[in-house]
Amino acid sequence: MLTLGIDIGSTTAKCAVLEDGREFRALTLRDSGVGTDGPQAAFEDALTELGMSRGDIDCVCATGYGRAMWKDADLRASELTCHCLGGVFVFPGLRTLIDVGGQDAKVISIDVGGNMAEFVMNDKCAAGTGRFLDVMAALLHRTVDSFAEAAARSKSPASISNTCTVFAESEVISQLAAGAAVEDVIAGICRSVATRVGSLARRLDVKAPVCMSGGVAKNAAVRAALSEYLHVPVLYDERAQLFGAMGAAIYAAGRRSKE
Ligand code: ADP
Repeated sequence: MLTLGIDIGSTTAKCAVLEDGREFRALTLRDSGVGTDGPQAAFEDALTELGMSRGDIDCVCATGYGRAMWKDADLRASELTCHCLGGVFVFPGLRTLIDVGGQDAKVISIDVGGNMAEFVMNDKCAAGTGRFLDVMAALLHRTVDSFAEAAARSKSPASISNTCTVFAESEVISQLAAGAAVEDVIAGICRSVATRVGSLARRLDVKAPVCMSGGVAKNAAVRAALSEYLHVPVLYDERAQLFGAMGAAIYAAGRRSKE
């Protein structure tokens, strides 16, 4: 049995194809999300990688911010459910998952049975989300992918005290104008995201093991600062940005096997 999860996010589209609920056969990602041709492209990439067509897939489950727009879905499931399933698949025994995507951040408490127990979410403010990093990367004429390496070169991270993205932009400009090294400013930006996400997480009882998912998880500087803030190791897997799509494929497999 083949199940496909498609995660239509605010900035990216991801697909995962799972065989018999056990092994991932294809994982694809496109850097354009809801309202673009990214979801269709990620879907077609997955089928092309497998040399298959839609008819070969037993069940398609859509998740993510744009899941309602995927007309071809057999099922739909929330991002919370799917990230939780993806996280527990990769890290059995996981108790806390911190998902930081393009426009929101979610922290999920998971019980010993691997089910979501509680969650908190920030979808009101760009600070503490990928959007904050995207804005800062554009301001600094860099890519978000280059941030972790730049932050690692910092000897004295700048303090970015403004919690509002718009004010933080002015703060970054004035720090650079005052002679701060760009790597110190970038390290400060990464810490600022980690502090915002960490304070969201502290609204729950953060139990280890903890992992990060979503695109921002790819940034080692954010992960390290989050781990320091929460006083707990933060696990990472290179498929972290795909946990939602993987979880959607797992959800579909679970539903089909009960039929
Ligand atoms: P969504 O599902 O909302 O589209 P994703 O989980 O795919 O979000 O994450 C997208 C976000 O990840 C973008 O805002 C981008 O800034 C961020 N991102 C991608 N790569 C990196 C990276 N290497 N370091 C930090 N952030 C990253």
